[in-house]
Amino acid sequence: MFKTKEEFKYEFSKRIIEAYGRTVEESHITEKFMVLESMVRDYASVNWAMTKMAVQQKSMKQLHYFSMEFLIGRLLVNNMMNLGIYDIAKEGLAEFDINIHELEELEADAGLGNGGLGRLAACFIDSLASLSYPAFGQTIRYDYGFFKQKIEDGYQVEVPDQWLQLGYKWEVRKPKHACEIKFWGKVIWNDKKGKWEHVEAESVRAVPYDVPVVGNDTLITNTLRLWKAEPSENIPVNKDFQQYANEVNMICQTLYPDDSTLAGKILRLKQQYFFVAAGLNSIVRAHLRVYKDLSNFHEKNVIQLNDTHPVLVIPELMRILLDEYDYEWDDAWEIVKHSCAYTNHTILAEALEKWPVDMMRDLLPRVYQIIEEIDRRFVGFVKQKTDGNEDILNKVRIINNGQVHMAHLAIAGSFSVNGVAGLHSEILMTREMKEFNDLYPGKFNNKTNGVTHRRWLAYSNPELTALLKETIGDEWIKEPDQLTCLNKYVNDSIVQAKFYNVKQKRKQVLADYIKEHNDIDVDVNSIFDIQVKRLHAYKRQLLNVMHIIYLYQEMKQNPNFRIYPRTFIFGAKAAPSYYFAKKVIKLINSVADKVNNDPETNQFLKVVFLENYGVTLAEKIMPAADVSEQISTAGKEASGTGNMKFMLNGAVTLGTLDGANVEIAERVGEDNVVIFGLRDHEVEALKASHSYSAWNYYNNNPKIKKVVDSLTDGTFHPSREEFKIIFDELMSKNDEYFLLADFEAYRQAQEKINDLYQQRQKWSAMCLKNIAEAGYFSSDRTIEEYVRDIWHLEKVKH
Ligand SMILES: *Cc1c(COP(=O)(O)O)cnc(C)c1O
Repeated sequence: MFKTKEEFKYEFSKRIIEAYGRTVEESHITEKFMVLESMVRDYASVNWAMTKMAVQQKSMKQLHYFSMEFLIGRLLVNNMMNLGIYDIAKEGLAEFDINIHELEELEADAGLGNGGLGRLAACFIDSLASLSYPAFGQTIRYDYGFFKQKIEDGYQVEVPDQWLQLGYKWEVRKPKHACEIKFWGKVIWNDKKGKWEHVEAESVRAVPYDVPVVGNDTLITNTLRLWKAEPSENIPVNKDFQQYANEVNMICQTLYPDDSTLAGKILRLKQQYFFVAAGLNSIVRAHLRVYKDLSNFHEKNVIQLNDTHPVLVIPELMRILLDEYDYEWDDAWEIVKHSCAYTNHTILAEALEKWPVDMMRDLLPRVYQIIEEIDRRFVGFVKQKTDGNEDILNKVRIINNGQVHMAHLAIAGSFSVNGVAGLHSEILMTREMKEFNDLYPGKFNNKTNGVTHRRWLAYSNPELTALLKETIGDEWIKEPDQLTCLNKYVNDSIVQAKFYNVKQKRKQVLADYIKEHNDIDVDVNSIFDIQVKRLHAYKRQLLNVMHIIYLYQEMKQNPNFRIYPRTFIFGAKAAPSYYFAKKVIKLINSVADKVNNDPETNQFLKVVFLENYGVTLAEKIMPAADVSEQISTAGKEASGTGNMKFMLNGAVTLGTLDGANVEIAERVGEDNVVIFGLRDHEVEALKASHSYSAWNYYNNNPKIKKVVDSLTDGTFHPSREEFKIIFDELMSKNDEYFLLADFEAYRQAQEKINDLYQQRQKWSAMCLKNIAEAGYFSSDRTIEEYVRDIWHLEKVKH
């Protein structure tokens, strides 16, 4: 492989000629891009092969991270940086008159996820490889990723995400690892063999596509395995082939664009079983290539279930052990229970996954039968533990009221259950899953989320990285805790000034992007106040908009009321069927139109909605933020990870004490965040007392009344019906997420931001303090905790 610029150039031009029969000068830019990508993949392949060999030869335990979503984004820059070949490639290409950034822009985002949960999986596999732990990611190779968002006349329009259009050079098809997955049919008892048999099933072929996961400064390269469904050679006899082929193709066609409600669709259940069964099949076969049987399966494999979507791993592994390898129930259950660990991501009731018994029995007859037996035995265990307490049994049963409760199955079949931030885990243990915590003392634990500081700081913010290097060196890239060395410089006025300049540069980059895409001029000297995340009522983008409306109204009414210039920036996709969320997007855009075009106020107040928020856009946004809006109703956001990306880039969190905001505030201290609003126990008490009245706030606070009235009085839309649903959510439905209760506290917190930002040195010190403490929120720390407490892996050395 190339080691120098000259070798790179030779290899690059050779490959262009080989692949396209043209010289570098004559080749098309997409050809140059694809050749560069395949060169980087092949460069990584050497370590990839070595890693597989080393893991096998040393009989190492491996992690298998099962997730319906991996929101990995682009890989080209990340992989070149991790391999340490970025500069060679950049300079080599420059000598061919090729700007590497132009090639980078051709890469599609692998948007195989919705938001935080999928992005977490992506950060985790990056950290696992960079820390040299042997690990596999298992997921689905969706033909279309998360939809592309367009804004037309202020409304969200969804366009299919054709991410495979140019071909995906990172993946390698592995037909030799293909297997058959069975759906439908029925279960019969075979007396001769003395076991259950799944007959008259419809087979689907699962083919893996492997993507190398390149670690930073390590010889380790792990694998992300994407499963694709194809027609089986055993075509079902009673079905038209065309219909069968269509059904098969549907399995991997689309990612469900909704991360919080159960898509009650059989296709979703099919997707889940498809990748779970295929993934397990390949793990079992790999295990049996090295060991004589499966009795040590749990000593050599650990399976992490990212939320409940892959929980069918539990009954499917039982099925394999019982039906294919003739294990007794108790022995099989011991292996399963010691192999699986489950991560809970939400306590929102509507997101707790349940499947109708009939649907599951029809689609997966044998798996359902096993779940029934797991439930039967679990009921016995609960009765014995609780002296037959019916209330408790009702709360914890796996099969209840004709539904299979996936979280309950997950807890019963795993040796570890973790939440994703301190507050979230505490709520699980003491409130939402208290009965389970009592049944299984010690099974519950916390693993506060993290983000990879390589992608989210080192690579996406080269200007800040350069400043950190000149100030504290670059050890933090390997050991993010070393960012605390910056503590010494928090009050250093020279470092403060340099930081301020870096921030201004990055704000200019975003301002240029906004000019190009939204045709709005924004002032880089204004405060960049940013809220980017999925659009959801509990995340309270609406509270942010209501405050903007308030500022606008106040400035219009009172010529002496003026704020320090502020640019409010939003980015958010709404689930296509989430009507309220889409109306909030329209409202943001309507407010933006009004205030941006009002010459009386627009030197003080601008509002920008950035279309199509995703990983690549986030990499541009995070470095440019002054203020990070993390304003969910306390108790609702399990962790948040956007908050951590902002912090790494030196933004100040304006937030509620929710999710990981609590830990951010603890680490930087109360002077370096702006915290406001009801706390989790206060929200709970308010709910329990049934005393909350949105109308009271409306009637007693004229500011609130004026803002709420503007939703339906024609201020922002000629039709008074346009935002009626938002008015109704707040007033008729009594404001489920307590926006009005928190409005005044939020307004005051925003006033505080307004004052703090004008004290430039103090503000810069706050930002530096946030960067100094952000190392804790690296996913490297999170992964080390999972390894220590749950996975017990060794590092690969070769
Ligand atoms: C980090 C990230 C998220 C999660 O953001 P939260 O603010 O934690 O909800 C969602 N989408 C993308 C593209 C991200 O990069």
